Amino acid sequence: MITLEFVVDKDFILQHILKSYSDHLPFLRLKRKVWEMNKQLYRVLSQNLEPLVIDGGLARGLPRATADLKESLSSIYKTNDFKKVFHETERYASTIEEQWNRNYIDSVRHLGDITKLDILEIDRKIRIFISHPCLPRGRSYAEENAIAWSHPDEWKNYAVVYLWHEIMHHVTANTRSAPHLMHSLIELSCDNELRIRLNGGGKYFEEDGIPLGHKYLVDLNKKILPDWKKYLRDPNENIYQFEKRMRRKWRGEKLLKPRSRLVEWAEWH
Ligand SMILES: [Zn+2]
Repeated sequence: MITLEFVVDKDFILQHILKSYSDHLPFLRLKRKVWEMNKQLYRVLSQNLEPLVIDGGLARGLPRATADLKESLSSIYKTNDFKKVFHETERYASTIEEQWNRNYIDSVRHLGDITKLDILEIDRKIRIFISHPCLPRGRSYAEENAIAWSHPDEWKNYAVVYLWHEIMHHVTANTRSAPHLMHSLIELSCDNELRIRLNGGGKYFEEDGIPLGHKYLVDLNKKILPDWKKYLRDPNENIYQFEKRMRRKWRGEKLLKPRSRLVEWAEWH
């Protein structure tokens, strides 16, 4: 069974705010406060430390960042600006958790029908690190059994659909599949088919006129779509077998336009 633990963590929220480019006023005030308190600390904490926070927190991960890291963090966490942002994140986390629980049974059934996998047989406990809803984030840390998540709910069941997207990255992480092809199948399964089934209607590749998904996967998704529609009607082929068949079918063809390795790495989630 897939169990999610929703984590509202002070280090995670602070770090996410400090490294962001958001001009949300409470974030700017918090940044200024940390800058005025200790410029060295600000410089360190405004880097991308997300994997380190997930792996045990700032004080453990940065023992020599500044002489008084623990004290500095605890005085930041006592400020009204941080408390306000933290409470907003707690409220957001509880709406997401409620949305997840409310849709759990239906989404397991739908995703089982879409992937032809027994979703309930998959045994995983995943920590969902929640950030402030003003800071969009979605990234999988399969090796840590963790997901970083926050996003305004742009349409009905937004968080459930994209949490399943991230969970599918975990589920498929150690399979012998082609990463871009599997990512495309995750988008077809979750962002599109699961969203439409859960919400009782909708179109592929857009919601309320807004295009969905990673731009670099759009062409690949469309290329696979006719086979994908047939696959959905065939109870005897599961998503892994379909991926293998598509890999064979398109062998020799470049499924994606070549891009720099850095862009690929940065966009991967
Ligand atoms: Zn993804």
